[in-house]
Amino acid sequence: MADGSGEDWSGRIDTTTAHPARRYNYWLGGKDNFAADRESGEAIARVYPAIRTTALENRYFLQRAVRFLAGEANVRQFLDIGTGIPTADNTHEVAQSVAPSSRIVYVDNDPIVLTHARALLTSTPEGATAYIDADLRDPRTILDDESLRKTLDFNQPVALMLIAIVHFLFDEDKPYELVKTLVDALPSGSYVVMTHGTADLNDPAAREYALREIQAGRLKVDARPRSHDEVAAFFTGLEVLEPGIVPVTAWRNPVPEADRPPLVDTAMYGVVARKP
Ligand code: SAH
Repeated sequence: MADGSGEDWSGRIDTTTAHPARRYNYWLGGKDNFAADRESGEAIARVYPAIRTTALENRYFLQRAVRFLAGEANVRQFLDIGTGIPTADNTHEVAQSVAPSSRIVYVDNDPIVLTHARALLTSTPEGATAYIDADLRDPRTILDDESLRKTLDFNQPVALMLIAIVHFLFDEDKPYELVKTLVDALPSGSYVVMTHGTADLNDPAAREYALREIQAGRLKVDARPRSHDEVAAFFTGLEVLEPGIVPVTAWRNPVPEADRPPLVDTAMYGVVARKP
């Protein structure tokens, strides 16, 4: 596979194991996935059939949060880590539709996302977009990246977006330290947006079943769901905006509650916070 730059990235793409970006693309109905991704996606869907609803509602949260930030909150700079394979209404499209001068830096560590970087770099003339091939577990590399420094002005508010990525950090990766390093680099008036997988909302019987499947080795898990309190701990020292750390469907959603998917079908918390 090539990205048009003349370089061939196929050597870096491992099709034998499931990758989160490609599996998520599968759940969303995309075509950029391989057999290993589809098998893993189906194995998870067997234990948790609402995973597709969760993936979709996570996207809707992302779009509502960006619209709020670019609109009401007047933010013009976005650092979106864990970009994913481009799909409809990506961060730059939503932000620039509200405020054409918005500048967006995307970061992902999966080479498949890199092969799609061109689709992420379709900026308005007034704004700018950049893509960095880097890992959240190495936040200094992200912060010191030349294209980040060229695209974003760290003297002005930045929205740090960590959407459906932090649950891929295990406790031994020291997720709280990693997020703190990034938040510390942001100026006052910046925002942190996060969605995070959780088992809190699942039906207890479904949770027991999933645990049994995992313990029996029938379901491989590459994510670390976190409880409400564990998610809240990422926001120490930040002002969490209303309505708080809530299921993604419940965050400033114009869809009436009766028409939203039930909470047991959305295994994801969403939150927007402001750095004082
Ligand atoms: N934010 C998008 C995509 C979520 S899928 C959305 O919510 O729609 C999660 C993405 O995070 C994948 O693209 C995966 O490649 C990326 N990712 C996972 N761990 C990462 C890490 N340590 N560093 C950088 N990206 C990572």
